[in-house]
Amino acid sequence: LKYSTARFVASYGEPEQLPEPTEPEIAFCGRSNVGKSSLLNKLVGRKALAKVSSQPGRTANVNFFEVDGVAFVDLPGYGFARVSKAERKRWSNLIGGYFEQNRSFNLVVALVDIRLDAQQLDRQMLGFLQERELPFIVALTKADKLGRNKQSQQRASLARQFCIDPEAMVITSSQTGLGIDEIRRRIQRAVDD
Ligand code: GDP
Repeated sequence: LKYSTARFVASYGEPEQLPEPTEPEIAFCGRSNVGKSSLLNKLVGRKALAKVSSQPGRTANVNFFEVDGVAFVDLPGYGFARVSKAERKRWSNLIGGYFEQNRSFNLVVALVDIRLDAQQLDRQMLGFLQERELPFIVALTKADKLGRNKQSQQRASLARQFCIDPEAMVITSSQTGLGIDEIRRRIQRAVDD
């Protein structure tokens, strides 16, 4: 994919507003503050295509980007505690509504912080993807915060905790660029399939 062609398309706050399924489509999901915007920006080589926020919980919409004819869908970060119950419900409806649609889902990139043991909401998200048999990979984020040995230990441990093939987990850092080419390769493969 020519990542330099990346452009923002539109932002949606309600599942009913989501556009007709396009093909191919790559979705990105993860807990709020996991580093999703940073990873998206790193992938496309842009500083601020997706907004990186120091205040978690700000990307409460589904954002559609287009990269060389492929839709990149940035789902709202889940699990941010300091918002109202109603707002949290809106987010989960948005994420649920998106996955309920009859879309192509070439690949879902689920982001998980490499430093944390399996979190309840990540278990739910990954469990859902497995149950639905959707093609997904896990991007383990912020790996620069751990040493090399600890990174692979933590990958093996999280693979066990989530019952996921470690091959489906890519160690990444948006800070150093670690794993970014590998994510691009997995996306390319999913698009070509
Ligand atoms: P989002 O809420 O998932 O979109 O997360 P952001 O991309 O906005 O990042 C949340 C915070 O984590 C910001 O302070 C980022 O600078 C930081 N962050 C994101 N990716 C990395 C990374 O790879 N390494 C480190 N050290 N920090 C990161």
